[in-house]
Amino acid sequence: MPFAVLADASLPADDFTKAANPKPQSAKQQAKWNSAAEAFNNAHKALAEICKKRGLFEEGDYHTQITRAKPGKSSARANTAKPDDYRAYWKAGREKLGAAAAKWMDYANAAKAEGDDTQYKAGVCQALKTCIDCEGARKARGEAVIDGLGWLPEARVEALKKATREGLAPPEDVAAFDKQYAQAGAGYVLLTKHFAVCSTAKFAATAELAKSFDALYEAVAKLLGECAALTDERIGVFLYGTAAEFGQANAQREGTSWSGGFYRARSGLAHFPLYEGGAQAAANHELTHAIVDYALRGKPISAYDGPRGKQSAAACFWIAEGVAMHFEGFDASKADAPLSALRGREDALKARMKWCRDLDAIFTLTAESWARDDADVGGNYMAAAALTEFCLGAGKEKYASCFMKLLRNHYTRELEVKDFENAFGAKRADFEADYLKWFDEQVK
Ligand SMILES: [Zn+2]
Repeated sequence: MPFAVLADASLPADDFTKAANPKPQSAKQQAKWNSAAEAFNNAHKALAEICKKRGLFEEGDYHTQITRAKPGKSSARANTAKPDDYRAYWKAGREKLGAAAAKWMDYANAAKAEGDDTQYKAGVCQALKTCIDCEGARKARGEAVIDGLGWLPEARVEALKKATREGLAPPEDVAAFDKQYAQAGAGYVLLTKHFAVCSTAKFAATAELAKSFDALYEAVAKLLGECAALTDERIGVFLYGTAAEFGQANAQREGTSWSGGFYRARSGLAHFPLYEGGAQAAANHELTHAIVDYALRGKPISAYDGPRGKQSAAACFWIAEGVAMHFEGFDASKADAPLSALRGREDALKARMKWCRDLDAIFTLTAESWARDDADVGGNYMAAAALTEFCLGAGKEKYASCFMKLLRNHYTRELEVKDFENAFGAKRADFEADYLKWFDEQVK
């Protein structure tokens, strides 16, 4: 494969934003560059027009707002569009950005014809930044697509397709199945209604874990209520049977070593290990991140995906973690039982009392600052759990709908700290007094 270098470890397979932008080196390349740039601008103009027509954002022009927005300086307000509007917008986005990406492949191929390997690679990466599902660019990387799991090396897709099962019924000879497929580097796919689960762990343990996934999906959708714009697309999940495999995947996204799983918004895929007990909480946590993301922002299309690209700099990240912690204890056999982000964490809560009471510090945290070296990550998670527990539990009557509004805002555009007040429709001071009164009861 002449261009296999594109798929090697030096270029993370799901983050093309790290690749340098194309820089035309010849008149021919310049002409293709111009045409691709024009297609890209036109795609965004057309999308902005669609937003306006559908009232996707109260202030009309979504893309202008997102482009202008600076961390902490966003002046965009929340939008009030309906799920159908979102779905139509995402569909158009896929088509229009897909067409622009194809133009970047024209650029890449023009460079290739001139023997310019650097610009060829830059063009392929630009195509993938523009549309992660650009077929020409994926094929150039030697990749093929598999339902729900996206693009993987062609040979792996071929093998996984042969090892795909609809539903969770066990194969006739489980031991033989495990021997062949439940191996690092091999794997098999189990399809549930809402998920495509690629596993290298043993069949029985994978099926046992996955049997609650669809129920979790319904429970999260129910909490999100009428603002959930879910589609019938499956969400991709990678389950790792060994610590080494998970460690490798985690290192590839430059994850922190303590991470017990992750959801990658850029690729729309959840990853976690299944090599020891307690995988259920990690599964519930990461899949909740995935379901919320798909429901509020749709399956990822592009690295220029407005709020998705900028979320790492947005305030109020606690709410994304809080809702994931809320569902950690989800049990499909008791789907209607009340959930709690604090149950079993009483001691940790007491140990982080000071942190949990400091709302100024918590509200300011972004995805970036959340787990920085100097951050008290444990304290951040506890504060997110406490705030969520209060908003969805004891303070439900007054604050549950405010919580949902803030969550939705966090996922659809950049937030600043004052957005808390906008979403809550209550003075920060009033909320803080209610929360602290409740909190002090909890740690008595
Ligand atoms: Zn999380």
